[in-house]
Amino acid sequence: MLDVVVVGAGPNGLTAAVELARRGFSVALFEARDTVGGGARTEELTLPGFRHDPCSAAHPLAVNSPAFRALPLERYGLRWLHSELAMAHPFPDGSAAVLSRSVSETAASFGPRDAGAYRRLVEPFLPRWDTLVRDFMSLPLTALPRDPVTLARFGLAGLPPSTWLTRRFRDEPAKTLFAGLVAHVMAPLGGFATSAVGLVFALAAHARGWPVARGGSQALSDALAGYLTDLGGAIHTDYEVKRLDDLPPARAYVFDTSPTALARIAGLGRFYERYKYGPGVFKIDYALDGPVPWTAPEARAATTVQIGADSAEIGAALRAASREGRPPTRPFMITVQPGVVDPTRAPAGKQVFWAYAHVPNGWTGDLTEVMERQLERFAPDFRDRVLARAVAGPAEIAARNANYVGGDIGSGAASGLQLLLRPRLSLSPYSTPHPAVFICSSATPPGPGVHGMSGHNAAKAVWRRLRQEP
Ligand SMILES: Cc1cc2nc3c(=O)[nH]c(=O)nc-3n(C[C@H](O)[C@H](O)[C@H](O)COP(=O)(O)OP(=O)(O)OC[C@H]3O[C@@H](n4cnc5c(N)ncnc54)[C@H](O)[C@@H]3O)c2cc1C
Repeated sequence: MLDVVVVGAGPNGLTAAVELARRGFSVALFEARDTVGGGARTEELTLPGFRHDPCSAAHPLAVNSPAFRALPLERYGLRWLHSELAMAHPFPDGSAAVLSRSVSETAASFGPRDAGAYRRLVEPFLPRWDTLVRDFMSLPLTALPRDPVTLARFGLAGLPPSTWLTRRFRDEPAKTLFAGLVAHVMAPLGGFATSAVGLVFALAAHARGWPVARGGSQALSDALAGYLTDLGGAIHTDYEVKRLDDLPPARAYVFDTSPTALARIAGLGRFYERYKYGPGVFKIDYALDGPVPWTAPEARAATTVQIGADSAEIGAALRAASREGRPPTRPFMITVQPGVVDPTRAPAGKQVFWAYAHVPNGWTGDLTEVMERQLERFAPDFRDRVLARAVAGPAEIAARNANYVGGDIGSGAASGLQLLLRPRLSLSPYSTPHPAVFICSSATPPGPGVHGMSGHNAAKAVWRRLRQEP
């Protein structure tokens, strides 16, 4: 009998498998797709030689992840590539706010009236960031906080809605960039603990940047899979699990799936029936005949570029998709252009580029025209550069990966208490009513993003349970 079976080879499933194999347990992993990676994969989606990341591309959370930093992933081929600026937020007049490794450069881009307020916001946390990120990503208390005082101070700053936090800024550049950071997890700007979301992304940039993986996000997943195999773990792809009986006998089963799928597979009835899914996304992967023609020079120096003219426009776009049940007229977009630092993604002189916007869960329309019109406010004549596009609305996103129910790439709404306490209000979120069944996907804390910390925390819960067994 195996010690542990993991279902789903996303970053969290792979991390859980690696950490349990490292502790000497026998591990087998089963993945529905023909490749490992889940939301961290790379494919030729458009034209030959153009290597796109269908899901994650920008990795502030991965490079700062205590779980990944403890693993020898560079030995298995992972290389992080950093652009001159971590992130840029251009405005229609050709100016830009930036998020840089340097707090001073970032603060200066917000203008003289807000530079001091920004410094006072982030600087107290930076010297203690490594401990803070571990403590924060281990909530709710899978480990005792190493620095409870800093965690409590972070809680005071982070628990209020981001609309409160941004009141300390007087001008739009800082307000808008911060609103965009919050929108990375598709949280309404006025929601509980949304200040923490923006702060984590800003601090992550100052501490270790927002890199892309050389060759594509698949490099991270392949490194995890390579290490797992060397530790003796077995990986089975093309294996969709529909019932527990589809799996070999094991002492523990760890699911990198949505709570809804897990309840169905493991017969957990209505255990997760209150779990809510959030808005979906509409994503376009482009093959371009050259770099994006941004008006703002800063946007040409950053792999990640946020698009939204001001904080009100971003707030309206989020409300449209999450509360009003309609697509935004001027979408907030996250865009990534890995070619700024990674020449391996496209033939010489060409580029891959991706952009996504928020739309209602399960929305079936086409947002291409609206998104490209919005892009051209910041990069005129963008469309002239397009060689090919691969378009994916919520249905295609969900078909690529069953975890993204209705196109919700966070695998669960990031609103209300569910932003922090998921998939249920519980101090042991990784356990289920079935004593041998665990959940480790981004539906568990610390939530969406490529960081492997849900897998890390779940692995600890599994390890504790197995250690208690005779
Ligand atoms: C368009 C898009 C852009 C994104 N951009 C970023 C970004 O830039 N940076 C970032 O940090 N994050 C980003 N994310 C989010 C990130 O990809 C996810 O939060 C992350 O991948 C979640 O990891 P996971 O291991 O929990 O699940 P996933 O990565 O979703 O992996 C789950 C795996 O389980 C498999 N699976 C599901 N059900 C079954 C089953 N029944 N049987 C077998 N296998 C099964 C799936 O096929 C999949 O491989 C993005 C996501 C999307 C979709």
